[in-house]
Amino acid sequence: MPLETKEDTWSEFLSFMQNQCSRAEFENWIAPIKCVEESDPITLQVPNVFVQQYLLDNYEEALASFFPKDNKGKPLISFLIKEGEKRKELKKEFPKPKKKSDIGHPLSFNVSYTFENFIEGPSNQFIKSAALGVASRPGKSYNPLFIHGGVGLGKTHLLHGIGHSVQKNHKKLRIQCITTEAFINDLVSHLRNKSVDKMKRYFRNLDVLLVDDIQFLQNRLNFEEEFCNMFEALINQGKQIVITSDKPPGQLQLSERMIARMEWGLVAHIGTPDLETRVAILQYKAEKTGLHLPSQTAFYIAEHIYNNVRQLEGAINRLGAYCRLMHLEPTQDVVDSTLSEMFQAPVRSKISVDRILHSVASMFNVRESDLRGSSRAKEVTYPRQIAMYLAKELLGESLIKIASSFGGKTHSTLLHAWKKISQQLERDDVLRRQIQMTRQNIEA
Ligand code: ADP
Ligand code: MG
Repeated sequence: MPLETKEDTWSEFLSFMQNQCSRAEFENWIAPIKCVEESDPITLQVPNVFVQQYLLDNYEEALASFFPKDNKGKPLISFLIKEGEKRKELKKEFPKPKKKSDIGHPLSFNVSYTFENFIEGPSNQFIKSAALGVASRPGKSYNPLFIHGGVGLGKTHLLHGIGHSVQKNHKKLRIQCITTEAFINDLVSHLRNKSVDKMKRYFRNLDVLLVDDIQFLQNRLNFEEEFCNMFEALINQGKQIVITSDKPPGQLQLSERMIARMEWGLVAHIGTPDLETRVAILQYKAEKTGLHLPSQTAFYIAEHIYNNVRQLEGAINRLGAYCRLMHLEPTQDVVDSTLSEMFQAPVRSKISVDRILHSVASMFNVRESDLRGSSRAKEVTYPRQIAMYLAKELLGESLIKIASSFGGKTHSTLLHAWKKISQQLERDDVLRRQIQMTRQNIEA
């Protein structure tokens, strides 16, 4: 953004943050940060390391869209801890823990990670309803609830969503939300201080334990055993556990005992959102930041950023900041000039007729060779027409070329299939769902 100084950018960032978080959050965490050095990289003075950590944990993406980034996409910022800050004052800045804990974890959930702020679509509906179930009846529905999926797809969001809801509706329950890394660090420091029993007591007295990113327990043998013991103690008393992970339990390098425990309850996957959900997320985030996003532009962005919701958010933040600063409307041209480096390779390039046939065959339980063949049995012709419909929708190739990949069919057969399925889609919810799922599978 050529016309501004770093200080302007910092003020822009602050006004963006005012829309982004609650007043209390802003006053406690963001307002105390000062921009003290404008040259590259920008230097921010923070009252303590917690504020720095808080900023990075929660708003790294937003920072990265306002300030220059390093080659890993992280914002280039130096932090300076303000000297002479008294610890007593620091304590005051923490949001109050719900219950006083003797192990010193303040309980704070990201204010925007609520169920209400979570946009639903076919990729996350199931897991969201499982999370709602757990939040309304902790320990009594699925236990543990194990949520797995790729980065930036809303695992932490749902975990905190459960946290917010339990805090609001089950005020008496003792709840803690901890990242696996924080759990390990805690254990290390309690081991050092010979106070492990105290920590164990604390955890075993919880009613709801939310554990984020369990994959960090891999290859940490001693910690794993301690975690597993705590896990069993809680589950045996009917206390709720929710775990997130980047992989399903069976693919984690953990002991069989640990894996089996995690598979006790419900294991649910959170997938990449489909196009319509991505558009809904973009529009929702745009509205929250006060950006007027025409639906054509939303579709355009969603077609190019498709496997990570965090990136969609980053795109909105960057686009919003740019439009505000330059007094522009978010048209496709503006999107091209601000976001093109975030764009992923077009989905189309990965998709082939083979891939489509493979997904349709497994969805409808027929053989790929039957789809290519000329059988007129209804069990085969219907999925074949669906495959043809998808091929026309997803591949940017000529009808003749696509038709020939279906074992030498004519392009009018293909067109007929496409028309039939398109018309049926307008009134058939089951078909729409089947096609959505197949498409997701093809694009994954
Ligand atoms: P993960 O923990 O899976 O890496 P996060 O929960 O941190 O991902 O989500 C990344 C960002 O995307 C967060 O800011 C979150 O609020 C947002 N997000 C993810 N999924 C959704 C959704 N379905 N609706 C709204 N925001 C979402
Ligand atoms: Mg996460």
